[in-house]
Amino acid sequence: MTEEETPVEVWERITEADIRVLRIPTPFQVGRVNTYLLEGDPLTLVDSGPNSGKALDELERQLEALGHGIEDLELVIITHQHIDHLGLVDIVAKRSGAEVAAIDLLVPFVENFGDDAARDDEEAAALMHRHGISDEVVTALRQVTGSFRAWGSKAKVTRPLHDGEKLELGGRTLEVQHRPGHSPSDTVFWDEQRRILLAADHLIKHISSNPLISRPLDGSGERTQALVTYLESLKKTRELPAEIVLSGHGEPITDHVDLIDKRFAMHQRRAEKLYGLIAEQPRTGHELAQAIWGDVAVTQAFLTLSEVIGHVDLLVNAGHVREVDDGDVLRYEATSEEPPEELGDLIPGA
Ligand SMILES: [Zn+2]
Repeated sequence: MTEEETPVEVWERITEADIRVLRIPTPFQVGRVNTYLLEGDPLTLVDSGPNSGKALDELERQLEALGHGIEDLELVIITHQHIDHLGLVDIVAKRSGAEVAAIDLLVPFVENFGDDAARDDEEAAALMHRHGISDEVVTALRQVTGSFRAWGSKAKVTRPLHDGEKLELGGRTLEVQHRPGHSPSDTVFWDEQRRILLAADHLIKHISSNPLISRPLDGSGERTQALVTYLESLKKTRELPAEIVLSGHGEPITDHVDLIDKRFAMHQRRAEKLYGLIAEQPRTGHELAQAIWGDVAVTQAFLTLSEVIGHVDLLVNAGHVREVDDGDVLRYEATSEEPPEELGDLIPGA
């Protein structure tokens, strides 16, 4: 694709590829979620929107405008575990009899959605406490996450997908590629022939995808380095000769290499900024979040903590910062008395 291609031309190419976007409302700050209808046999829906009457009405209305009903759907693909993407899958699958596809490691999570809620909450609370968030704030946040869960739903996955598998969907081949980071289950779908990548929240044009700390899907207790994992995934996506990237929110991306390079630079800068704060004095994750975001670090405590921990992981891995455990709370401190002039490349290979 040339740089000069206009948005209208880009949309023409998407339409020619028999892909339609349905923008489904969500109650979340991110706004509408993009679900994609892949016309052909089987008639396929990629993601579904959150579990709400309003989202279902919109999905139905937008499908109708394209000449389809929910009953016509034959396959629903889940891109990742977040509720704005998978909440309606069960209702859609039950009404249509559609197959439900998701990457293999996500299957137990979807089929048992919500069953581990108490354990998830407890682990998140323990993590927040450990990083210096007050018990008052932790309690308040637990009520919010609890009410959010209603926007998700269990669903039966009838077609587990495997990393590297090629899905043949009525004249198109989509390669399944696991790209964890934003969530542990992020899956992108690569149409090599048309050079179109269905990327969901792995790459979004107008916002950087938050690598949220979440429990590993394999049941191990170890915290994964979400941002480090995410950056590794971005490197792989950067190598794809994609001409159009279709995201889970916002507009199509036509310059993904440039966008990914900007993301790398942003994460490097953010880690450097955190290093500056840590070099001044040892701080907890929450104190770092407050130093950067002020009150938002309280109202969005888990999100901002995820951001901080992700970037401090880069500093710890590079040997600039270490964790100091006082038995209750974890603090970060610089490893050298004299802060280095240059931190060097914190994202190796980027
Ligand atoms: Zn997401």
